[in-house]
Amino acid sequence: MIYLRDVVSLELDLEKCNGCGICLKVCPHAVLAKHEPKVRIANRDACMECGACAINCEPQAIQVESGVGCAAAILNAMIGRTSAPCCGPIDPDDPSCGPSCC
Ligand code: SF4
Ligand code: SF4
Repeated sequence: MIYLRDVVSLELDLEKCNGCGICLKVCPHAVLAKHEPKVRIANRDACMECGACAINCEPQAIQVESGVGCAAAILNAMIGRTSAPCCGPIDPDDPSCGPSCC
């Protein structure tokens, strides 16, 4: 799913990336793809800025402003939903909040 085009804050620093592939496993939208020996951003506009990749990237090769420009939250506001979005940093104490909650 693509929310909005050209608004995603996701950045990948290939100098820091060690190619471990964790980000590929935690991303719910297949935004990143293997590009031996590292990874690449394959579908930037599908990113919902959940932050799961950045949180799980040990060498901090990924930067994303999770919760700030969350496209899902923008869309929810546009259609009048008032419930709080769950697109901020993942709350480990909230079982409903995770990479696939949006
Ligand atoms: S989790 Fe980080 S270090 Fe591992 S492949 Fe993804 S960007 Fe590279
Ligand atoms: S912020 Fe979330 S949706 Fe975007 S690339 Fe990372 S894990 Fe995937």
